[in-house]
Amino acid sequence: MGSIAPFSMPGRFLRGNIHTHTTRSDGARSVEEVIRTYRDAGYDFLSITDHFLERFGFPVTDTRAFGDAEFTLLPGAEIHAPRTEVSELWHLVAVGLPLDFAPTSPDEDGPALARRARAAGAFVGIAHPGWYSLSLADAETLVDAAHSVEIYNHGCHVMHDKGYGAYLLDGLLDKGYRLTTYACDDAHFKAADFGGGWVELKAADRSPEAILDALKLGHFYSTQGPRIDDIEVAADHVEVRCSPASRVLVVGQGYLMSHSSGIAITRTRVSLAPLAASPWLRVIVVDDTGRSAWSNPIWK
Ligand SMILES: [Zn+2]
Ligand SMILES: [Zn+2]
Repeated sequence: MGSIAPFSMPGRFLRGNIHTHTTRSDGARSVEEVIRTYRDAGYDFLSITDHFLERFGFPVTDTRAFGDAEFTLLPGAEIHAPRTEVSELWHLVAVGLPLDFAPTSPDEDGPALARRARAAGAFVGIAHPGWYSLSLADAETLVDAAHSVEIYNHGCHVMHDKGYGAYLLDGLLDKGYRLTTYACDDAHFKAADFGGGWVELKAADRSPEAILDALKLGHFYSTQGPRIDDIEVAADHVEVRCSPASRVLVVGQGYLMSHSSGIAITRTRVSLAPLAASPWLRVIVVDDTGRSAWSNPIWK
C-alpha cells in the first residue's frame, strides 16, 4: 500500500477541535471567548457544538462572522434524543449542520435524528461512549448514520475518568463496520478541559466545505500531543515516523497486537505477522508522558 492518507497527501496538517460548548448551552464562556481561546492557541478550525435541546433554544450557532483566512468555523451541535440501553438521551456530535436544522420532534429517536443530521450534510460522531456506558448494541443501531466514534474526550477524562472510547470503536470494527475515530476537548471551561485532545487533518483548502469533506473522508488522525508524520503499510509490516515515542502499537481484531518499544523512537517498523488474522489495524503512538496519538482504522 505504501504511505497512506492523510500522510501521503500534499499540504500541512490543520489542527481542529470539533466538540465544544459555550454559554449558548451549559458552557462557562461566550462564543466569542471560546473562539478566541482556540484561535490564540494555534488551532486552525473549530466547531461549536452546543446542546441541541429545547431548554437552550435548539442552538446551531452562526459563527460565520468569526472565520477568516487563518481560522475556520464549522456550524455544529451536540444533538440528543431518546434513548440508549442505560441513558435517557443519546449524545451525538453533528458538525456541518445547516443553521436552520429543524428542532428534534417528540417522536424522533437518536438513530432517526442522526440519520436526519447526516442527510442534512453533517459529519456525525458518537460522543463520549465510555462516559455513559454506550453499548455495542446501542451503537449498531446507528452505524448507517454515524461517521466516527470519539476515541478520546478530554472533558470526560478530566471530570469523570471516563474519556476513552476504543472499546466501542473496536467492537464496531470487529463486526465489520467501517467507522473512523476522533479526539476532542468537549470543553465547557468549568475545569481544565481545554487543549487535551484534537484532530490533525489534511484538506484541499481551509474552507468549511473542504474541512467537512476531509472529516467525512477520514483524512485526519487524533492526538493528545504526539505527532504522526507518516504511516506506510506493507504486506508484512507497518513503518511509522513520529515525534519521539516510547511505544508504537499496532492493534487489531480482539486482542491481536504488535508493537515496538524503546526510547525516543522516531521511526520504526512493526511486524504485522501477529495481526495476520485481523482485517483492520490501528496505529497508536505513545510518548514518555503517556500521551497518545491514534490513526484512523486501516482496512487491509
Ligand atoms: Zn455529551
Ligand atoms: Zn459535549
